Amino acid sequence: MSSQLSQKLTQLLKDAPKPLHMHEPTFDKAEQKYALECIETGWVSSAGSYVERFSNDLQEFTGAYAIPTVNGTAALHLAFKMAGVEHGQEVFCPSITFVATANAISYCGAIPHFLDNSDGNFLYNIRSLRDYLKVNFEIKDGSLINKNTNRIVKVLCVTHIFGFPAQMDELLELCSEFKLILVEDAAESLGSYYKGKHTGNFGLISATSFNGNKILTTGGGGAVLTPDPELAEKAKHLSTTARVADPYSHSHDEIGYNYRMPNINAALGCAQLEKLPEFLVKKRKMAEVYLKQLGGINEGYLLTDDPDTKSNNWLHSMVLESEKSRNALIDELKAANIHCRGVWKPMHTLPMYKDNPRMDCTKSEALASKTINLPSSPDLIDYISEAA
Ligand SMILES: *Cc1c(COP(=O)(O)O)cnc(C)c1O
Repeated sequence: MSSQLSQKLTQLLKDAPKPLHMHEPTFDKAEQKYALECIETGWVSSAGSYVERFSNDLQEFTGAYAIPTVNGTAALHLAFKMAGVEHGQEVFCPSITFVATANAISYCGAIPHFLDNSDGNFLYNIRSLRDYLKVNFEIKDGSLINKNTNRIVKVLCVTHIFGFPAQMDELLELCSEFKLILVEDAAESLGSYYKGKHTGNFGLISATSFNGNKILTTGGGGAVLTPDPELAEKAKHLSTTARVADPYSHSHDEIGYNYRMPNINAALGCAQLEKLPEFLVKKRKMAEVYLKQLGGINEGYLLTDDPDTKSNNWLHSMVLESEKSRNALIDELKAANIHCRGVWKPMHTLPMYKDNPRMDCTKSEALASKTINLPSSPDLIDYISEAA
């Protein structure tokens, strides 16, 4: 017996080309033209005009300085470095996030300290977080110290899950109270705004991603975002092997990274960014259709914006009653050639992070186990009949 929800979804998505994947890229002639130009001129790699242009276009769109990188994970690694994360420190991050958030912390030799993010749209509960910090941490010589491990915690990272902006005002207040630097994992939130300001402008330094399944793709790619021009310069320097300009020789002034986005990827990015406003409109329409069609169903609820947020609707998501009903829905949709997925396993349940310091994350575990991501490609709306 299939559920009312799976019947509704199968009916709603009946005209979409199958197999239907969760999020597919949308390309047209512009991507072909720009990429071909890179191939024809030979400017495919780390030098070339598209990288500079993509950086500028991103800045214009987001309002933050943007340094294009090879992927979002590399951008996160740079962001944590630039925020001052050091070997042996702990860094706060969500228990429910993509593994790259925790991995990038680990690349700095630091230890991810997981926080429950099971409130609303996968948000931290500020009150529980404040209580947790008050009980388990103390401020000594201007630094926050974990009383149980004696380690310094300098940075709090928040992920704007599925494109829904976190509650930035409250988080910034909490960070200032506990001497923490805010870093945003804005990998999923290009085109998402909190109180009218684009995500990536709130933290000291942040990262976004242009992986193949993100709202905008460069094949592989990412960017460091920051409102601070000096940090932006420094991030660019670190991402380009810390090379110093010298007409006569190769020289580098510190241990840098080869993280600069290649020109051919940036060419795709420039073409995609031209279409981003249209993607955002289409995805918003699809969010409205899902809400109209599924909003009244009592088998689960859709994640939606609150008055302070304007999400990019990257992945339309639903929280079901249980893990069992979530998994059953995935199976039923698969039978109709509609491929959906559950959310990531919480970080503290992964083998490499199971012993990490964390607050009680039982609520995160429960939420993650019953959440499903629905088909969310920008073009999906084109296949929804008016009758829907
Ligand atoms: C996609 C993503 C990243 C980075 O991804 P890359 O594949 O390295 O570009 C980081 N964090 C989150 C939450 C993501 O969704």
